[in-house]
Amino acid sequence: MTDQRRPSPGTLIVGASQSGVQVAVTMRELGYSDPITIVGAENQLPYQLPPLSKAFLSGTADEESLELRTAAFYADKGIRLVLGEQVGEIRFDGTAGEAVTDAGRVLSFDLLALTVGAAARRLALPGVELSGVGYLRNMADARRLQADLATAESVAVIGGGFIGLEAAAAARSFGKNVTVLETADRLIARAVAPEVSEFYRAAHERRGTTVRLGMSVTGLVGSNGRVTGVALEDGEVVAAEVVLIGIGVVPRLEIAEQLGLECQGGIVVDEFARTSLPGVVAAGDCAVMPNPLTGEGRVRLESMQNAVDQAKVAAATLVGQPAKYHAVPWFWSDQGNLKLQIAGLSTGYDQIVLRGDQQAEKFSVLYYRAGHLLAIDSVNGVPDYMTVRRALAQGGQIPAGLAADSSVPLKSIVVSAAPAAGVLA
Ligand SMILES: Cc1cc2nc3c(=O)[nH]c(=O)nc-3n(C[C@H](O)[C@H](O)[C@H](O)COP(=O)(O)OP(=O)(O)OC[C@H]3O[C@@H](n4cnc5c(N)ncnc54)[C@H](O)[C@@H]3O)c2cc1C
Repeated sequence: MTDQRRPSPGTLIVGASQSGVQVAVTMRELGYSDPITIVGAENQLPYQLPPLSKAFLSGTADEESLELRTAAFYADKGIRLVLGEQVGEIRFDGTAGEAVTDAGRVLSFDLLALTVGAAARRLALPGVELSGVGYLRNMADARRLQADLATAESVAVIGGGFIGLEAAAAARSFGKNVTVLETADRLIARAVAPEVSEFYRAAHERRGTTVRLGMSVTGLVGSNGRVTGVALEDGEVVAAEVVLIGIGVVPRLEIAEQLGLECQGGIVVDEFARTSLPGVVAAGDCAVMPNPLTGEGRVRLESMQNAVDQAKVAAATLVGQPAKYHAVPWFWSDQGNLKLQIAGLSTGYDQIVLRGDQQAEKFSVLYYRAGHLLAIDSVNGVPDYMTVRRALAQGGQIPAGLAADSSVPLKSIVVSAAPAAGVLA
């Protein structure tokens, strides 16, 4: 997409996180030599988000260890970072563009990557402004939560998704009284089968966390500006000096909408990370793309794997060496000593096969549709997870009728196929 006839103002990457940094790094690896600028709203070097609800919250990782790259790395690669500034206005006619930050800085570009991620979904209820109530999307949130946890006895988590459960496990490891309040009738309902939800409910309760399902929160109550509890529909108040709201995220679409890009629950991209406007790519949590395994429908993946792999695809497109997204989606969630690993996408499954021992907290669930393997959720079961991830990447199958027998290693029953392009990204 670069124009060789005039000096290029270069590439602007909006969003300085997992995807944004990866776009820049891959462009350099692919030989792009024009200027690259990454602009990011946060006033610190780009860092990984996943440890915020795990090692960082538990106090076993410090801020510096979370940084994606050192300052010297960016300098060495000629990647300019504009940090602590947010792009507000932007325009692009397909060949030349300009963005203006909230500090009034004007940034010119001829290629654009949107890696703006997602924001925590806000809870619109009375009392959310009380101190002690917060979200967990970035380092500032994590620092605040960590400080609040230091003095609190009781913690309520609104939302039984991955982040809420990870934070609940971390708080519980400090001996806090933890209550998870979930509106749905099961945990992590969007991502896993009911059997896995039920396992997590029981496992958290075994560790002393109270899990309350089907709970409708009506507001937060407090005194002297600080939260003291969470009010439920039936009038009950669950005592809490710290409340974490973890009810999902919403993709950031403001810039895409300004540019007139097609958006449908995310910035719509194709398998090359191209948006509806030539010269503009999008990647990571903000983008919605064709299902990389089935090609059917679109998915928006909130995972580090996708942020990295889609950013590589976006970078390749920008430098004029397009390569299709073909990675097998994978994801993990560490909740205390429970390591959940997911490979593939289970959407649309019509059969599951359980193997392993739920009581021993070591088991897997394989998902099938019309007899075809779609995905796996593995709890403390790395070999099963790796086998399925590899099988999906290679177009292999694992017969459902044989998978339940845990005495048989999964890898011995893989029916292999010719390796597809892009094995185990
Ligand atoms: C607490 C937590 C735990 C997680 N745990 C896991 C896990 O265990 N496994 C896993 O696979 N994934 C996990 N994730 C998800 C994973 O971190 C995300 O999928 C990934 O970070 C997405 O990267 P991204 O670059 O697309 O977006 P983000 O990381 O959201 O980055 C977008 C950046 O863009 C900036 N920005 C937005 N708009 C503008 C603007 N206009 N101008 C300038 N800057 C802007 C934002 O401030 C932000 O820094 C977790 C996420 C969180 C928050």
